[in-house]
Amino acid sequence: MTVNDFYKRVYSLFDDVTPLSKDCGVLCDHACCKDGDEETGMLLFPHEEEFLKNADFGRIENTACEYGETQSSKIFFCNRCNRSLRPLACRIFPLMPYKKEGSPLKIVMNPMAKRMCPLARSLKVKQLEPQFIKNVRKAMNNILKLEDGEDYIIMLSEIADEYNDMQKSFLK
Ligand code: SF4
Ligand code: SF4
Repeated sequence: MTVNDFYKRVYSLFDDVTPLSKDCGVLCDHACCKDGDEETGMLLFPHEEEFLKNADFGRIENTACEYGETQSSKIFFCNRCNRSLRPLACRIFPLMPYKKEGSPLKIVMNPMAKRMCPLARSLKVKQLEPQFIKNVRKAMNNILKLEDGEDYIIMLSEIADEYNDMQKSFLK
């Protein structure tokens, strides 16, 4: 399967499936998807940059986060939203995959989503739409099948852990 076919298929899991059965955007004035924010980027999953390389609603940059042997992760900064092409991280928001080496995959609330997302601040994962949780898990199981997919998810999990530790140290 080509990268394009892979991401078309994974993106389509979220064409009609969202965190709540109703539009959660009314709770926050569509905080995560109203307009593109040039300062806020979404990390791209492995090879996703190839699928989005011609997207005309943002730019892709390298980050300092590395995974696998030599991969540097990419970030997508949008200047507006193109809902039909929004990256996978936007589609699974406010959830994220969490995995430690040798441990099973978990689907957790993204700690970094709490700043803007009322769902992340006030709900548990299991309170979100069951089909949404199921599709996030399905998408992430597909990511795990990619070369470096597991390393990427482990890297994301470490970023989330560091963020949580930093938050705790501010509260001391
Ligand atoms: S920020 Fe959270 S509540 Fe608001 S639209 Fe995004 S996912 Fe829904
Ligand atoms: S592409 Fe993603 S980050 Fe950008 S506005 Fe759309 S949902 Fe938000």
